[in-house]
Amino acid sequence: MYIGVIEDIGGETMAKPALNINALNTKVTRLLRQAEAEAVTFGRRAGIACPGDCGKCCVTVEIEASPLSLLPLAIDALRSGKAEALLEKTAIAPRAPCLFYTPSSPFHCTVYATRPLVCRLFGFAGRRDKRGLPEFRACRHMDRTPRPGPAPPLFSTWHIRLEGLYPPLAEPMPLRSALRRVLLWLLLLDTLHGCHPPGGRHAA
Ligand code: SF4
Repeated sequence: MYIGVIEDIGGETMAKPALNINALNTKVTRLLRQAEAEAVTFGRRAGIACPGDCGKCCVTVEIEASPLSLLPLAIDALRSGKAEALLEKTAIAPRAPCLFYTPSSPFHCTVYATRPLVCRLFGFAGRRDKRGLPEFRACRHMDRTPRPGPAPPLFSTWHIRLEGLYPPLAEPMPLRSALRRVLLWLLLLDTLHGCHPPGGRHAA
């Protein structure tokens, strides 16, 4: 899926590929998996884990995510013809719990494979303290104290890496708003350019 820019060069109209959505989706997906792998490694080294059957981070506050970190989820929805229905759900005012939370599914998340960056790092990543040093505070629902030593992945580092892939969609906001933005972006491009991911709803 290429988004073309029409340029008038010397009286000749030319379509110039500007953005390959599928390539962007591949890069975002790879980055999300790398971030998750780093968080899992940190958790193992620090000897921490979420309590079984917890899911409290999905119900207590509405999390913030960037539209870009929801691109794989939105493209999945577009491919399966569920984008418009999902868009309607995002029209409800932002509030907890997350619209993908369900107590009955594995890890309490109906979009676990395509969940955004923050969900892959939460509980297993840190921030920089006032001196710029990595600082980790375990989630208050974890029942084990982290072993000292291993440096946590940093939210800011992974956010910057993600932002570098496509800055216009990188601003963090409540998850519903971020999802709404990326879905509208994809649907608009689909309408304007007829470009959609392979295997999408219009595929032959
Ligand atoms: S997307 Fe999934 S993991 Fe993330 S807050 Fe929502 S239910 Fe939880």
